[in-house]
Amino acid sequence: MSEKAGFIGLGIMGQGMSRNLLQAGYDLTVWNRTASKATDLIRAGARPAATPAALAARCDVIIICVSDTPDVEAVLFGEDGVIHGVGAGALVIDCSTISPIKTREFANRLADRGVAMLDAPVSGGSEGAAKGTLSIMVGGDAAQVARAMPFLQAMGKTITHVGGNGAGQMVKLVNQILVVNGMFALGEAFLFAQAGGLDLEKTLQAVTGGAAGSWALSNRGPQIIQRDWRPGFMIDLQQKDVRLILEAADELGVPLFGCSTVFHLYRTLQSRGCGAEGNHALIKALEHLAGIEVGRAPEDTE
Ligand code: NAP
Repeated sequence: MSEKAGFIGLGIMGQGMSRNLLQAGYDLTVWNRTASKATDLIRAGARPAATPAALAARCDVIIICVSDTPDVEAVLFGEDGVIHGVGAGALVIDCSTISPIKTREFANRLADRGVAMLDAPVSGGSEGAAKGTLSIMVGGDAAQVARAMPFLQAMGKTITHVGGNGAGQMVKLVNQILVVNGMFALGEAFLFAQAGGLDLEKTLQAVTGGAAGSWALSNRGPQIIQRDWRPGFMIDLQQKDVRLILEAADELGVPLFGCSTVFHLYRTLQSRGCGAEGNHALIKALEHLAGIEVGRAPEDTE
């Protein structure tokens, strides 16, 4: 375990992922834009870095998990970015979900400096990040994937090398097509159950173990019934992923009806100030259209 690791982006996902690297015994340096989010990790044994450049200067493997494409660009190539400290031979592993096209561009820019890059977006939610059970879809050079494997195995359970640079991000978008259409189905199903006067807990119990069972149903179904909109994955970030899907689909000439609908439903929730709520709050847009609220007695409905 001689390679030193660095982690940039200690948000909902980065917290759990970096903690698992620490628990696996890695010499870990961390940096987060909002410094206070690093406090607990530093207390647990991680070293602080003042900037991404300073982090890169002392690490062989630099893992990034920030929000969107311009944010990855900023931590890599901005003022005090990784590029200003990194040594030739280092490896950057980007676990953020971002544009596949820009990913290939970033990989080429790093390669010009002798630095390798893998795109390694993740799936499994905040729960998977905390438990180290993420699915990780990896794009890039096979030798670098082999080098990255012990780090990825500390953070995830299912690690799949899916192709060259950008392929990991494309597979992640496939994953997100499944996720958002699943959330839409969850919304319609609970709305229908509510309108039919069903016991929602029993309905959930009955359908979870059958052919309609899914991660979203098991993890977010109970939250919907309790009207608990705390995010595992925020609407603002989910909407970013749907935007990435629609941009890529447009380029490929593929019509995606479900994703287009979900994009506009999430937009209505963002306009109503719900962007920081969980992606399962999609049902609130459907409730608004239907004039029904799930999990409430009819007389309680506004
Ligand atoms: P989050 O809690 O909002 O955290 C975002 C992180 O990115 C924070 O550490 C934030 O720093 C940092 N950041 C954003 N813009 C930055 C910039 N310009 N410069 C430096 N740092 C910046 O989001 P998250 O849920 O952890 O998601 C992170 C990534 O994982 C996203 O690409 C998301 O799509 C993906 N993902 C999330 C989930 C999930 O269930 N949450 C699942 C799979 C994949 P501050 O603390 O300073 O704001």
